[in-house]
Amino acid sequence: GGSFHWDDPFQLDDQLTEEERLIRDTARAYAQDRLMPRVVRDYLDETTDRAIFREMGELGLLGVTLPEAQGGAGATHVGYGLVARELDRVDSGFRTLMSVQSSLVAYPIFHFGSDRQRAAFLPGLVSGERIGCFGLTEPDAGSDPAGMTTRADKVDGGYRLTGAKTWITNAPIADLFLVWARSAAHDGALRAFLIERGTAGLSTTAIKGKLSLRTSVTGEVVLDGVTVAEDALLPGVAGMAGASRCLAPARYGIAFGVMGAAEDCWHRARQYTLDRKQFGRPLAATQLVQKKLADMQTEIALGLQGALRLGRLMDQGRASIELVSLMKRNNCGKALDIARAARDLHGGNGIQVEYHVMRHAQNLETVNTYEGTHDIHALVLGRAQTGIKAFG
Ligand code: FAD
Repeated sequence: GGSFHWDDPFQLDDQLTEEERLIRDTARAYAQDRLMPRVVRDYLDETTDRAIFREMGELGLLGVTLPEAQGGAGATHVGYGLVARELDRVDSGFRTLMSVQSSLVAYPIFHFGSDRQRAAFLPGLVSGERIGCFGLTEPDAGSDPAGMTTRADKVDGGYRLTGAKTWITNAPIADLFLVWARSAAHDGALRAFLIERGTAGLSTTAIKGKLSLRTSVTGEVVLDGVTVAEDALLPGVAGMAGASRCLAPARYGIAFGVMGAAEDCWHRARQYTLDRKQFGRPLAATQLVQKKLADMQTEIALGLQGALRLGRLMDQGRASIELVSLMKRNNCGKALDIARAARDLHGGNGIQVEYHVMRHAQNLETVNTYEGTHDIHALVLGRAQTGIKAFG
């Protein structure tokens, strides 16, 4: 029989390549040394510092799956998932700003963009000099993005976009906007357009007062007759299926990432209940507490193993959108449960920002909702096994 590693039951480490361990270590060192010391202040102040993008860029933590020739690290999807996990371990907001920059802006430009678009935008995105955002959601189109009303009308030499996006991560500080609109020139299909800050008619406002993901700025984008040239159109992707292809790597990264937040909550709950004595003995000496810790350990071990398998399938180009839904849904839901339980195990101290667990729980409320809500992913899985679409 082998020995049991209580904090890594499946011995995840053994299943990684040397390169994957290296990028994981780089991300962990950055997250612990540079992000951890600032997280409480940034969270309370509800601010996102542009410098974080540049710091991540310098360390090669943005667009990691892009080839080295495009400025990326040529990392596997597993490597990307490991970066997400290390950022989430500190704060899901820091991971969110990276997810959007890497998976929702750089990745689609690399895979679906023209040579000109790649040359114009990828270097700045990967270095973190320029910030990108991804605009799909609208005030009246969230879970049902196909219900969007933003439209692109054909004009001489290009397109004119009219509409509004909301809940857009990075938007208030973004330089580049990847925006989805219904395009009359393409039979009303959803198409993506790349719009630069400063283009007339484009404006953003920050959504203030979020009680979740406060280190990740979110905003509204108004498109008031924004005129762009023909080559603003992202050529290689169209329709809701196309939007899903853009979202899949981000959702996978979230599934891997949230396990980092869950691990942080679990480790803190374990340590706290070992240290804290009530009724003459450590809280961790009670059966109820040990059961909770065992549940956390089990769900995290399974969640990481599932995320790893999904990452390997992504690297082989064999990951279905349904499996992405399964992992995004399960890991976000489980991470949220774990964070709430960890908050409970901390008693009164659990509500204090210095103990971190309530911040994780608050963050995970959003992560359970964005990129397809927990229930919408259930409906994707329900459709896949019954053949009946219960939504739309
Ligand atoms: P709704 O769609 O109105 O859903 C409300 C509730 O109804 C949910 O519980 C949902 O599960 C349920 N529901 C909906 N339809 C059904 C159904 N058919 N059957 C059963 N239940 C249903 N979007 C972007 O495009 N880009 C971003 O960068 C981005 N960042 C975000 C950052 C934050 C902090 C947040 C909060 C959101 C962000 N979003 C972003 C938007 C996010 O993806 C949406 O909030 C999400 O898709 C849900 O849409 P909604 O908020 O309109 O909720």
